[in-house]
Amino acid sequence: AKRMGRNQYHLFNETLKNAAEQYLLMQQGLETALLRDEFSLVYQPQVDSRSGAVIGAEALLRWNSAELGFVSPQDFIPIAEQSGMIRQIGEWVMLEAARQAVKWVKDGCCDKMQISVNVSASQLSDPAFSHKVATVLQTTGLLPRQLCLEFTESAAIREEEHVIAMCDELVSMGVTLAVDDFGTGYSSMRTVTAFPFQFIKIDRSLIFDIDRNPRNEAVVRSVLELADRLHMNVLAEGVETLEHVDMLQQLGCYYIQGYYYGRPMAVEAFEQWMLNRKI
Ligand code: C2E
Ligand code: CA
Ligand code: CA
Ligand code: CA
Repeated sequence: AKRMGRNQYHLFNETLKNAAEQYLLMQQGLETALLRDEFSLVYQPQVDSRSGAVIGAEALLRWNSAELGFVSPQDFIPIAEQSGMIRQIGEWVMLEAARQAVKWVKDGCCDKMQISVNVSASQLSDPAFSHKVATVLQTTGLLPRQLCLEFTESAAIREEEHVIAMCDELVSMGVTLAVDDFGTGYSSMRTVTAFPFQFIKIDRSLIFDIDRNPRNEAVVRSVLELADRLHMNVLAEGVETLEHVDMLQQLGCYYIQGYYYGRPMAVEAFEQWMLNRKI
């Protein structure tokens, strides 16, 4: 009987794992995650492959939930987005990343570094968003040009008129804007002309086989040409191998982010990584 009970418990556990339950658990967990200090940031370096100089770092959110353990941002960000929690979480991310970047500049860890932060659709549709950015810059002392905001086309085209106006405001403040995951959407060409982006981040789905897929090579080539004509910078994401770096250099894409240079790292690991590069 005991054994049967255990099996039933196991079964119950399995059912718990169905999508709807999991969704609810995450939604509930997210509501208290900030208070419980369950979030942290990891930082992934962005490198100029010509000089090896670190031009920046992207802050990426990590959630270690008391109930669920480590949850991937790919799983919890959409839920935080739907429940509206992402606004508060996103503000925390921006403040935390800005504080860290100011510290690193002061320490001499990375003097010319720009910090990149991901911005979600519901943050962009917040009328107070640019004001919140300004407040973060004021309270931390981060210079506007040291902050880069990344968002996707799909986030930008919601409430487009309003978002364009706010982007203009951010750019006039001196903040850098980057279009994230470029090449995965449907309106790529129009988006880069409609919004005042200075950076295009090419999605890793176009990069992973670039050294052996002439079609993706051709797409990347045309993105670089487009960016050149529009006076925009291009950064390639998901660069994992020397072959990727070599091919991108041949094509004229020098800004690189990916495992080849460094994985997303916690603060101490990032500092160590920076130290090792200087030796
Ligand atoms: P993303 O903005 O496109 O971030 C890049 C993702 O690619 C990160 O996954 C990073 O760890 C991963 N990556 C970097 N280099 C490589 C590589 O060479 N190879 C491979 N295979 N992967 C690489 P991560 O950290 O799991 O984040 C996933 C997504 O979650 C992010 O994609 C972003 O859309 C979202 N996200 C993360 N942090 C935040 C945040 O603070 N706010 C918002 N709104 N979204 C976030
Ligand atoms: Ca990003
Ligand atoms: Ca991306
Ligand atoms: Ca992505």
